[in-house]
Amino acid sequence: MNNSPPLSQLDKPVQFLKGVGPRRAESLGRMGIVRARDLLYHVPRRFEDASTVSPIAEAEVGSDVTLIGEIRTKGIVPTRSRLKIFQAVLQDESGLITVAWPGQPWVDRKLNVGDQILVTGPVKFFHGRQLQPREYTLLARAGQERMGADTEGTIFVAYPASEEVPQWVFRGIFERNLEWLIKHVEDEEYLSEGDLESLGLPGLGDALFQFHSPETLAGVESARRRLAFDELFFLQLLHAQARYRQTKETPGIQFKRTNDLIRAVVERLPFSLTDAQARVLREIAADMTSERRMSRMLQGDVGSGKTLVALFAMLIAIEGGYQAALMAPTEILAEQHARTIKGYLEGTAVRSALVVGGGTEAERRTVRTAIAAGETHLAIGTHALIQESVSLPKLGLVVVDEQHRFGVRQRLHLADRVPVPDVLIMSATPIPRSLAMTLHGDLDLSILDELPPGRTPIATSVVAPSKRGRMYGAVRDALEAGRQVYFV
Ligand code: ADP
Ligand code: MG
Repeated sequence: MNNSPPLSQLDKPVQFLKGVGPRRAESLGRMGIVRARDLLYHVPRRFEDASTVSPIAEAEVGSDVTLIGEIRTKGIVPTRSRLKIFQAVLQDESGLITVAWPGQPWVDRKLNVGDQILVTGPVKFFHGRQLQPREYTLLARAGQERMGADTEGTIFVAYPASEEVPQWVFRGIFERNLEWLIKHVEDEEYLSEGDLESLGLPGLGDALFQFHSPETLAGVESARRRLAFDELFFLQLLHAQARYRQTKETPGIQFKRTNDLIRAVVERLPFSLTDAQARVLREIAADMTSERRMSRMLQGDVGSGKTLVALFAMLIAIEGGYQAALMAPTEILAEQHARTIKGYLEGTAVRSALVVGGGTEAERRTVRTAIAAGETHLAIGTHALIQESVSLPKLGLVVVDEQHRFGVRQRLHLADRVPVPDVLIMSATPIPRSLAMTLHGDLDLSILDELPPGRTPIATSVVAPSKRGRMYGAVRDALEAGRQVYFV
């Protein structure tokens, strides 16, 4: 039975791409970009209509402009009030202008003389023309060649970046690899021309091309719709398949609970479950001990404790004499889960194993043999877990983490092969309950709407309109640090 999808070129490590060496691959990995596919789906978070870049000399007081230039001088200007202003003089071929960030002295640390930046904002008059940027984007450090920023007449893109992998590096990598990436993602198109036409969606290749190399903002918008469609479509497919089997084939497993394993793990936890975790766990247990098949989505922010809940669900399966599998979209995520779960299981008789491509042939065979013999209760891996190479004879529960990050074919295959058993899907992407209902009919949804205590104290602040710049600065810092921000 070999109907696993052929591994796509897009599943090769990023290091395989032009301009990505071992060091860069490692930095990208820290941002969750491991495979070529992860890079292709690393889409810009901001689009600037750079078709309107003005020459600096022509930026008029009272207008709103986008400028590109090089920083000639910079410094923090003290004022009589306690406000500190970071100022820089920006130059292009046509002239000079002062750019000022009132109340954002920290920008001083981020920008150096010689850096090339793109700024957008209003031009005001303070001892001459002064641009107060709403946004700035670093195009290149001093002395560096500006890559992918030949912006004339185009939409300019800004990627989620980090200190280690800044903007221009992403642009450079895409400049050299985009065509190759697009060519391969086109092979993964699963919608026919007719489907695309009737849905009014661009093809997968077109959509991703528009994201990375946009011609118009309208093109970006339709690209966004295409990726959103894929995300919801596969989720729906997965649930629909599970439900189809539920009615068509054998009934679900009615797990018998002993509670032994769960109690053993709970007793050794250095904390108690949050109310939300306890409630969600009851919902899951009710499904699993009933004779109907579970097809449930577990939704909760990063850090809300989904992994622990998923582990308890797997323990219910194991207590009942079955095996459980946890699938993550990348080997790195699978390894993280394996480590966490091993920690939780210490001192219990439950045996877990990580199934990934690494290690020697003999090691891999040992792991697979133990799983096939039922000696390993809990298998953790990537999509490869449900391929023919791993036999899980007593599989009772499959947990899928972040299914939207699996490749297109993997997701189709996932829906096709999830063999059975009960299914729990973990997601940090919030879909409103009402929308989820519309999408999935009677989709079962469990929501962890509470963070464990003491983890992230929530600070609420009111920001005066005059401090708007400071707030954007804080937002940008959070984004640059790889965190997430909600804008309502
Ligand atoms: P998620 O998978 O939702 O991102 P995790 O399950 O990885 O969240 O949990 C994040 C962290 O919170 C982990 O370090 C975990 O040990 C811890 N944690 C989970 N549940 C609780 C709890 N009830 N009280 C305190 N800490 C918890
Ligand atoms: Mg997690």
